[in-house]
Amino acid sequence: MERRIIFYLQCACGSRGSIVEFCAAPAGAMDRQHSRFLLRGLSQGGEYCGENEVFARLKPACQKCGQTMGPASIVGVSELGQTAVIAPRAHRAIHDAYVQR
Ligand SMILES: [Zn+2]
Repeated sequence: MERRIIFYLQCACGSRGSIVEFCAAPAGAMDRQHSRFLLRGLSQGGEYCGENEVFARLKPACQKCGQTMGPASIVGVSELGQTAVIAPRAHRAIHDAYVQR
């Protein structure tokens, strides 16, 4: 079954949005080749050009102020049906598995 992973992003202005990943790879595997992504509450006009493949592909930006959102904007990660929202600083290892900076 397809996994659904949600990345919660917060802009410096306080506005929030999320990236939803529909991942065909089994749990534990981070193969994003067949993943589909959906932006919620974010626009696609960002200018991110770093190493994170997800952000480089989606180029998310704040819908309110237009600021580019990068991996540093992630404030939480959760996987539907698996876990509650994970605070990145409290669960470094899990966070790093999802987020390649
Ligand atoms: Zn903003």
